[in-house]
Amino acid sequence: MYKNLYLKRGKEESLKRFHPWVFSGAVQTIEGEPQEGEVVRVLTAEGGFIAVGHWQIGSIAVRVLSFEDEVIDAAFWKKRIQVAYDLRLAMRVAGREDNDMFRLVHGEGDFLPGLIVDVYGNTAVMQAHSVGMHVSRMDIARAIVEVTGGGVSHVYYKSETTLPFKADLEPENDFIIGGHDRNVATENGLRFYIDWLKGQKTGFFVDQRDNRALLETYARGRSVLNMFCYTGGFSVYAMRGGAKTVHSVDSSAKAIDLTNRNIEMNFPGDGRHEAFAEDAFKYLDAMGSQYDLVILDPPAFAKHKDALRQALKGYTRLNAKAFEKIKPGGILFTFSCSQVVSKDHFRMAVFTAAAQSGRRVRILHQLHQPADHPINIYHPEGEYLKGLVLYVE
Ligand code: SAH
Repeated sequence: MYKNLYLKRGKEESLKRFHPWVFSGAVQTIEGEPQEGEVVRVLTAEGGFIAVGHWQIGSIAVRVLSFEDEVIDAAFWKKRIQVAYDLRLAMRVAGREDNDMFRLVHGEGDFLPGLIVDVYGNTAVMQAHSVGMHVSRMDIARAIVEVTGGGVSHVYYKSETTLPFKADLEPENDFIIGGHDRNVATENGLRFYIDWLKGQKTGFFVDQRDNRALLETYARGRSVLNMFCYTGGFSVYAMRGGAKTVHSVDSSAKAIDLTNRNIEMNFPGDGRHEAFAEDAFKYLDAMGSQYDLVILDPPAFAKHKDALRQALKGYTRLNAKAFEKIKPGGILFTFSCSQVVSKDHFRMAVFTAAAQSGRRVRILHQLHQPADHPINIYHPEGEYLKGLVLYVE
């Protein structure tokens, strides 16, 4: 059976409210010497059962898998992945002809801390952020194939950069089930190349699906600037929405290449689109005021709490440039994907930028991550994506 871990007296309170982490400071003793990634049982100081979870080294000592005293075996993984898949069917992101990419597992949001799984057609891309998930990777991969009824028949494991460096596991990014190189998937009827080999995260930002669909409804007749375009997701939707012109900008030449390929696949030979490999601030400084639909979706400006103040300044500076240049009657889609930047923080940073520009600005929509990136209500840290759609006079 699993080794028992005893908490310090009174340290079970947050766990009783289903918060899924045990911090190392809360641990009184542990039986034996568990290996990192091993399943342990968490007990109160008095010996009452609280949870089972993955033991790990660092400030988070245990990531909880279950608040029931159960065995973590192949059947457990299958049950959990089944619940996650059924939810994706219920929210109508899975089981559709015109949409075969979605997030199947969103860590704590699916009660599977340390695990991310994105599905692209018949391929799942899986990321472990904890040694425990790494240890269970084959059980998890097989569960994904079974639960989707073979809809997913290939599983690519991509944890080279996400596993704790100190664990020294040296996992290689590779297929752990199946394997192929036909990497095109469909989102809301639009097709995209997914670069799971070299691309950021699992290869595509599925979290912007709903926000891209909203952008499409505003695109007709507009001159669009998609800043930080990466794969050109927003650009492809703007094209379908009937934009007059679409300009995509990213500092990475690879991103620009991917954007051009995605536009070409969906709108071959369409001259409305152009892409530029340039730094955002340089481009915004040099451009005129021709754009009346602007998307700002930068990388996370703050990865840690300490960086918060600097990050907020960054968001203000970036948005100020857009307010300065956007055409009167223009619409700005602006985002932050920094987890440590709250909705209120972000809104304040954008407010400051708007005030600096002296323009009249109204909020039309407040955006967030989609349903397939659920937030465990007891783990609000899982909320990370926020956006505003603004009307600028
Ligand atoms: N909007 C995209 C995701 C953006 S990810 C989507 O919907 O998929 C952030 C992107 O910003 C990355 O592609 C990265 O290459 C780019 N980037 C980072 N710093 C930049 C800078 N200073 N100027 C322009 N692009 C930058």
